[in-house]
Amino acid sequence: MVIQVTDLFKKIAMVGLIPYLCCLSYVAIAHEHIHTSHSPHVHGVAELNLIVEHNKLEIQFNSPAINLLGFEYRAHTTAEIAEVEQAKDHLINANKMFVFENADCQQTAIKLDFSAVEPVTKRDQHQNESQAPLHSEVSARYQFKCNSGTELTRVNVKLFEYFQYIKHIKAFWIAKSGQGVAELNTSSTTINLN
Ligand SMILES: [Zn+2]
Repeated sequence: MVIQVTDLFKKIAMVGLIPYLCCLSYVAIAHEHIHTSHSPHVHGVAELNLIVEHNKLEIQFNSPAINLLGFEYRAHTTAEIAEVEQAKDHLINANKMFVFENADCQQTAIKLDFSAVEPVTKRDQHQNESQAPLHSEVSARYQFKCNSGTELTRVNVKLFEYFQYIKHIKAFWIAKSGQGVAELNTSSTTINLN
């Protein structure tokens, strides 16, 4: 596995995608230490990174929190806390967020990071309000196992249907066929992995 991962990162390095793919779990598996970097924080714009390797698919979703919640600070009110919970409920349902049109891929793991917008705790309340970040991000990392009898070539992204503030998604992908970038919007939601 480690050998495969090393090869994968050689491939990524060649196309200069390391800044966008640094967070995927392949990194953790290989014990690599690569500086974390995302696309610039732009409201309305989110990012997806996809890696298909053999029958495994990994997807990393990064977004300004405002795209999912309408705010970017720690949830205070009951309504804000409900917004956070609803966003997590949507994201955790991977089969609603992503449709694999020509392959049977089952979710095997998911990790959400909403730490920047989670409700204020008593400890947080003692911190200076001015320390609160002006902007914050949330992320979700998915792992899937796909039916080995088929090759995944198309992913339909449903995030726009659940999060109306997302207007544009930059999707970086690596698959058996190569690598590329797909620019998605509400009328173009499919990533072609070839
Ligand atoms: Zn922001």
